[in-house]
Amino acid sequence: MYCKKCGFEVEKGWKYCPKCKTNLEDGNMEPNKKVIMEKLESEKKNSWIYLCIFLINIIAMFISQDLRGLFFVGALISISTGSLKCPNSKILQFVFCLFAIAVVLYILAIIFMLFTCIHTINTWDCSGIG
Ligand SMILES: [Zn+2]
Repeated sequence: MYCKKCGFEVEKGWKYCPKCKTNLEDGNMEPNKKVIMEKLESEKKNSWIYLCIFLINIIAMFISQDLRGLFFVGALISISTGSLKCPNSKILQFVFCLFAIAVVLYILAIIFMLFTCIHTINTWDCSGIG
């Protein structure tokens, strides 16, 4: 038998795949290795497609002024769908993490700016803003 996730050869009765730590008790074994390899191959292909769509959206986001929000949503959807559908693609998972961190930092920056502005309004001095 083979692990459905990564194609590693496993014995019947094993609880976890030693390579990718997948729980083998949930029917994650496959007797035919070719089936797994074909799945992994198509997943690899798909991961590049998702990555391309993501990059196009990111580039468009920086170029376009009016549709920035739309391209941001496009990038978000493509990278999160990609990382869900291609869990074995390290590049996609890595880019997804980077993107998530960037979004969190961006939101934190906005919150920080809002707080600074509220504080300045309270002290009747908004001249430092914009
Ligand atoms: Zn495995």
